Amino acid sequence: MPNPTVDKDLCVSCGLCSQVCPEVFEEGPDGTGQVKADADLNAACIQDAVDQCPVGAISA
Ligand code: SF4
Repeated sequence: MPNPTVDKDLCVSCGLCSQVCPEVFEEGPDGTGQVKADADLNAACIQDAVDQCPVGAISA
């Protein structure tokens, strides 16, 4: 089971991860991407978010 994390120091708050994979990612209060408390850690879209994040801020 992947355990995605967002490096908030790298994140540029583009919002893409929460669009590509809303089951797992959301925009946090500071605008950066974050993993949802109820994230579906089996969601196939996690890898899409990892691949598409423009700054490589997501690890899984
Ligand atoms: S896709 Fe990457 S840069 Fe964009 S909000 Fe998500 S973690 Fe941040």
